[in-house]
Amino acid sequence: MIVFDYDLCIKCGKCEKICPCLAIEMIDFPKLAYPDKCWHCCACIKECPSNAIKLRLPPHIGDQRYEMLVLDRQNTMVFQIFFSGRMIDEMSIQVRK
Ligand code: SF4
Ligand code: SF4
Repeated sequence: MIVFDYDLCIKCGKCEKICPCLAIEMIDFPKLAYPDKCWHCCACIKECPSNAIKLRLPPHIGDQRYEMLVLDRQNTMVFQIFFSGRMIDEMSIQVRK
């Protein structure tokens, strides 16, 4: 499930607009209003200009203390893995656009 850091969020609304399944609603701040609809595509995470959204990895991968941030850097997608809030790994994948 995705989690928001409201200290970083600038309330731009991009996450709500990009979500393909309308799982996010903006009421002052964004909220995962329909968690059952979220299929973890990470589009909102990539779109967020302030890195305020992370994907909390499901129990069969971690133990809910693992989170993933996805950064879109030109022709490279960067995946950062956090454990208890601390970055522990980073992977980069070149993409064609
Ligand atoms: S991860 Fe994908 S499906 Fe889930 S809330 Fe974000 S954009 Fe929507
Ligand atoms: S895209 Fe990021 S900064 Fe913008 S409203 Fe969503 S969480 Fe906040």
